[in-house]
Amino acid sequence: MAAKRPKLKSSAPAAAAGRLDRMLGAHLAAGPGLVKAADRAAAVGAMGLQIFTGNPTGWARRAELPKELPAFRARMKEHGFGPLAVHAAYLANLAGPNPVFREKTVELLRHELRVAPEYGASFVNVHIGSHMGTGIEAGVARVAEAVERILDGVPLADDSALLVLENSAGGGNGIGESLDELIDIHECMAARGINMSRVAYCLDSAHLWGAGVEMKGDDEVDRLVEQFDKKIGLEKLVMIHYNDSKAAHGSKLDRHQHIGGGEVGTRGLAALIRHPRLAHVNYYLETPGMEEGWDKLNIERSLQLSEGTLKLKPLPAEEPKVKKVKEPPAKRVAVAKKQPTKKRR
Ligand SMILES: [Zn+2]
Ligand SMILES: [Zn+2]
Repeated sequence: MAAKRPKLKSSAPAAAAGRLDRMLGAHLAAGPGLVKAADRAAAVGAMGLQIFTGNPTGWARRAELPKELPAFRARMKEHGFGPLAVHAAYLANLAGPNPVFREKTVELLRHELRVAPEYGASFVNVHIGSHMGTGIEAGVARVAEAVERILDGVPLADDSALLVLENSAGGGNGIGESLDELIDIHECMAARGINMSRVAYCLDSAHLWGAGVEMKGDDEVDRLVEQFDKKIGLEKLVMIHYNDSKAAHGSKLDRHQHIGGGEVGTRGLAALIRHPRLAHVNYYLETPGMEEGWDKLNIERSLQLSEGTLKLKPLPAEEPKVKKVKEPPAKRVAVAKKQPTKKRR
């Protein structure tokens, strides 16, 4: 029965270090162990990592921190990795009207921000959420109010992580789907007197696509970058979730796909990872089947796009089968510059 697995002979090893002028990491499962996740990221050629600190679909967070945190932080350094991102649980909703869920959201994000320095994380990334039918304006005001409360509950320190708000694909009354909505949120937070040096943004390319934002090629991505810079400031864009999309443009659906295997296409994705004004941004893959071997393949495909190769090989029909990763070398050359974290806060 072993007949039909197209073994992906990856003769060109996906090693981002040296091939890319910016940080390209991957979201990997931390369940099997944090040090393991860091080693896997290095073995598949990533330069950084995004993780969950607990169950992504539950509210509960562990009372005790994992024992391996010191070893994890040391390993991240050994690999010369870029900034670690913690992705908050999906249940969080900064924009929703339900008071019970709002309390839980505030508590959850305070928790993530409090533990982030223990993980060595620079970013706590959260989906902005849904206004649940109460309208954009009310939703935007609630986001600003929630962010203020979250930050007020976590004293600022030298190693504090940034709270990073992520754009939405727009389905289910999700807000922050267009740049205009992100700008509204940004201005509303600033008007409230929130310390904006603690807040930043993440753009997910699959969400941009689902939301109907134009990003087909260089010109469209140029416009997006210019507009973001003019209204919010490019230094505020610290993360890109680098994903292709299975869903149609403007469908409002959030369906991540392998790089160059979806609807966004290689021109738009290449424009995003090659844009000269986005070299300071940290890119993280959130593509499917990470631990099944697709992680290495998607890193390689991203690198090819970054090098200007727009014609990628067709995706294999089945798992690329690099489940077993070799022990990575103990030390790697660091090319990813660490974010100048202190200044921005
Ligand atoms: Zn994302
Ligand atoms: Zn998504």
